[in-house]
Formats: sequence, structure tokens, C-alpha cells
Amino acid sequence: LTEKLDKALHVLKGHGSITEVNVAETLKEVRRALLDADVNFKTAKEFTNTVKEKALGQNVLTTLQPGQLMVKLVKDELADLMGGETAGINLSGAPTVILMSGLQGSGKTTFSGKLANYLKTKKTKKPLLVACDIYRPAAINQLHVVGDQIGVEVYSEPDNKNPVDIAQKAIAYAKQNGFNVVIVDTAGRLAIDEAMMTEIANVHKAINPQETLFVVDAMTGQDAVNTAKAFNDRLNFDGVVLTKLDGDTRGGAAISIKSVVDKPIKFIGTGEKMDAIDVFHPARMADRILGMGDVVSLVERAQEQFDEEEARKIQKKIAKNQFGFDDFLSQIQQVKKMGSMKDLVGMIPGAGKALKDVDIDDDAFKGIEAIIHSMTPTERTQPSVINGSRKKRIAKGSGTSVQQVNQLLKQFNQMSKMMKMMQGGGGKKMMQMMGN
Ligand code: GDP
Ligand code: MG
Repeated sequence: LTEKLDKALHVLKGHGSITEVNVAETLKEVRRALLDADVNFKTAKEFTNTVKEKALGQNVLTTLQPGQLMVKLVKDELADLMGGETAGINLSGAPTVILMSGLQGSGKTTFSGKLANYLKTKKTKKPLLVACDIYRPAAINQLHVVGDQIGVEVYSEPDNKNPVDIAQKAIAYAKQNGFNVVIVDTAGRLAIDEAMMTEIANVHKAINPQETLFVVDAMTGQDAVNTAKAFNDRLNFDGVVLTKLDGDTRGGAAISIKSVVDKPIKFIGTGEKMDAIDVFHPARMADRILGMGDVVSLVERAQEQFDEEEARKIQKKIAKNQFGFDDFLSQIQQVKKMGSMKDLVGMIPGAGKALKDVDIDDDAFKGIEAIIHSMTPTERTQPSVINGSRKKRIAKGSGTSVQQVNQLLKQFNQMSKMMKMMQGGGGKKMMQMMGN
């Protein structure tokens, strides 16, 4: 989707004003990109019509570059489609009861753990996880593993085959034991079926949750929309959790779910680890879909994890053009603390494209670290001295190939350039970079 939209917005580059012709041309591409990402036809068409009207209406704004104006219009409109504002989670009630719903494999159990962890650390709550998936023996176990990982207690009754009863008892248990949030994980099926719907509807009715969340795999595209509709018809849920939005995102589901069920997307899952959870920000998602990268999230996460002193030192070095491989190494160590590399790279503007041919997994760090360790101090501070024979020596010393060394040098250059841009001039330069 991102690539297609890039192309579409590219059409406008170099044109002096927004005329009906190039607007139509651009929006045709935008619509095609949306359809390709499984946005349903009606939504895509309405979307492009709205943008078209606005674009033509703003023809008078001659001070703005038409390309930038289009980017802004498409972006704002996309954000609007996905809800405009960030929707919070209702934490009232004593305890707050949160019910998970969704198909099997959508990520309910994983997300239950992530949410418990999130509430525990961010909102200083004391959550209890409840295992109401009574069909697969492994399901209860899975929740216990998750609970152990994050240090959250799990309520389960392996011999009880009545999910309504388990959920009610769990809530009573929570009240008696000082838990203020109860997260109820339920069973799913591979496809919508009546037995599943009745069961979850019964649990829902019996425990009357403050929040009923519908969990859906973002990669299921148009199916995600149909499933959302079926669950919403039955449960009238409060919000959507979009999982598996890792790295190369397909934004289609986010766009159409909101327009079909008119419920806010509240959280996204961006990986299998327990900290791979983010509050859903429509504007940022629009940015991300448009290939601008989720910069704000990245910066926020970085701020949480980065050593500020270290960051300031590095900033100075970037400003003075002294950023070297030693700093890169310490950056890598910082990044490792922040979560998976793939998540992070996905958020850097342009990086998805630039690093597409590089296989990014967390093991990739090992090779990188080995290569840097094989460099001399001079090579680390002045990478430009690294010539052919030095590359051979470094490759040998680190047990890698010259090709890998080259790749790292290329990556390093891209990264330093990117950082320089983020640092000086901020948004304006970023826009220029994206425009190119
Ligand atoms: P459930 O059947 O709805 O409870 O789904 P699970 O929580 O068991 O998740 C199914 C699979 O999806 C597991 O392998 C999870 O690790 C994986 N998964 C869940 N959420 C995410 C996510 O946000 N990103 C990725 N990459 N995998 C996820
Ligand atoms: Mg499960």
C-alpha cells in the first residue's frame, strides 16, 4: 500500500497547481492502492471523492506545494476515516472487567497478556488474567506462560467446562484479593459459528464488562471487516484491537473496520513480545500508511528507553559530523533495549524501502557487532578510510563477508544521513526527503 501511495502522490510532483486532471490522476492511484490493501470498494470511493472535493476547493492555497497539500489532505482524510482521535479505554468499575472476543488465532491470548502488562506498568493497576478458553487444553497453559512472563496472576479452573461460571468466579476472586482489573480471555473458532457466538454472548451478558474488545488479525484484510461486523452485531463491542501490524503494515483493515462497524480502534499489536502493544493513533497510522513512518511513536518509545545523557552526546556528534561506528554500536545496544529491530525499522521514514533487501532480524545485530569490533579505532571514527583491503581484513576478523561489511557501511551512511535530517530542520527537511 505504502509503495503504491508513494507512487500516486508522486504524480503530483512538479506540477504548479492542483488541477482537476492531476487530482483525478492521483486519486485514481490512491483508490487503487486502497483497494489493493483490501479496503472495501465503497469506502475507497467515498474516500477519494472527499479528498477530491477538498483538493479542488483549496486550489487557492498557492503558497503550499501541491504535492504537500495532497499529502496533507490524503493523510488527514485517512486519519478521519480511522476515527480522527485516539480513543481511550474505560477503566471504571471495581474491578474493571475487560472481555476479549475474536476468532481463534487473532491474538486474544497474546493481547490479554500485553494489555495486563500495559495496565500494570503504565497505569499502575493490579490485573488478573482469566482463562475462559476451555476447549484447547493448551490454551489455559498458554495464558499461564504469558502470566508468568509478565508477573500477572492467572485465574483458571482446568476441570470447569462452563466459561460463564469461570468468569463469574474469577471476578469474585478478584474482588476478594484486591485485583482492580479483570481481563477475560475467551475461546475462538477458526470461523464465525453459532456456538461460539452464543457462548461469548452469554459470558458478555453474565459479567457485563466495562470494555468488550474485538481482537482481529490485520493481515486478514477484507475478512477482518466481515468478522468485525458479525461480532459487533452480537456483542456491540466497545473497541477494536488490530494485531500483527508488525513492520511492513497493511493498513487496509484499520481503514475499513472503522467505517463498517463505527467502533474505534483502541490498540494495535506489533509483535509477539509482551511489550509490542501501542495505543492506536489515527493520525500516526495515516502517516505510517503513507510511508512517512510512525515517527512520533518511535520518538516516544525512544524517549522512554534511551539514556538521555547518551542521547545528548550523540546528538552533538551528529551535529558536528562526528558520528562514528562506536556511537552506532552504542545505538544498537540502546535499540536492543527498545524491542525488536523490525518494529523499529518499520517506524523510520523511508527505511522500510531503503532496507527492504536487508533481512532484518534480531540476529542481524550479531554480525553487525562483530564487524564493528573488528574495526580499528580510526576506522570507527572515520569510516571513510575503509577501503578495499581494510574491508577484507574486517570481514576476515569478524567471520563475515566483504559483502556484509559493504552492507553495513551502506546502512551506516543511510542512518547517519537520516539522523542528521531528523536532527536539524526537523519536519521541513523530512518533508523534502519524502518528497524525493
Ligand atoms: P488467540 O487464538 O486469539 O488467543 O491467538 P494467540 O494469542 O494465541 O495468537 C496466535 C498467534 O499469533 C501466536 O503465535 C502469537 O504469537 C501471534 N501473535 C499475536 N499477536 C501478534 C502480533 O501483534 N504480531 C505478531 N507477529 N504475532 C502475533
Ligand atoms: Mg487464545
